[in-house]
Amino acid sequence: MKLLIAAVALAALSLGASAQNYPGDKPITIVVPFAAGGPTDKVARDLAEAIRKPLGGQVIIENVAGAGGTLGHTKVAKANADGYTFLLAHIAMATAPALYRKMQYDTLNDFEYLGLVNEVPMTLIARPTLQASNYAELIKWLDANKGKINLANAGLGSASHLCGLLFQQSIKIDMTTVPYKGTGPAMTDLIGGQVDIMCDQTTNTTGQIAAGKVKAYAITSSKRQTTDALKNLPTLNEAGLKGFNVTIWHGLYAPKNTPKPVLDKVNAALKLALKDADFVKRQEALGADIVDDARVNPAEHKKFVESELAKWGPVIKAAGQYAD
Ligand code: ASP
Repeated sequence: MKLLIAAVALAALSLGASAQNYPGDKPITIVVPFAAGGPTDKVARDLAEAIRKPLGGQVIIENVAGAGGTLGHTKVAKANADGYTFLLAHIAMATAPALYRKMQYDTLNDFEYLGLVNEVPMTLIARPTLQASNYAELIKWLDANKGKINLANAGLGSASHLCGLLFQQSIKIDMTTVPYKGTGPAMTDLIGGQVDIMCDQTTNTTGQIAAGKVKAYAITSSKRQTTDALKNLPTLNEAGLKGFNVTIWHGLYAPKNTPKPVLDKVNAALKLALKDADFVKRQEALGADIVDDARVNPAEHKKFVESELAKWGPVIKAAGQYAD
């Protein structure tokens, strides 16, 4: 018994000592479950820069894209819980379980929750050559082109999928969805005219709208945006889709059983990163709200995701969409 107590004490001591030196020379990986160049990737790269300073180590991004983000989620759920693998994931953490018949992980039980990062509205955008210059004209165009409309998204369960699904239901026009590994590559095709419309986070669309590379029609949140490129866009609710409100959130996760001292250290660094002047400036310019409430804490982050699972599950199930 004495021996066992001594062994446990020694393990705790060495964990404490290693947590003190953490992260040391070994780089930390943040897995992004979508392709490079898209909104999740952009948030992760900005956050990596901001969190690297308080953590005092190297932070690298690994894009593990596919299946609406669930391949990346799975990779982190099954990764070593040694404090060197994290996941920056969005609303798909809460929407995917309602869509995939076979999930390889359990959203609430296979992760440690570190904190929520930001909340971002989406924009309804189209290829630059689409013959509609405002929302009313877009609806007319969609109506006239039924059966020929291509809607890009980042796969089942992604934010663009959720938004596109609700939009099609609200206007009662079905579209052909074209899935990509992220809205980074989807944006390239939209600009090139290979697909017609898309719903994507303002963190990815603001620059393209400002440069006139895509057409923009509406914002998906309940409030208008104040940034120059977005301030003239109506909300979908104002445009006639009563109650339409989709806001995308991003949060930080680690594999279940990552040591508590490491989680505490990363959570403290996350809180500092969310106040980092460069990070704040960049996020605000792209229409994102940095989380500044109790949800930057693990317990409240998890509680929030639970509420999002309860909110979106029935909506998605009612739409009758499933994937294996
Ligand atoms: N915006 C994408 C989505 O629709 C994901 C991404 O590429 O970041 O979920």
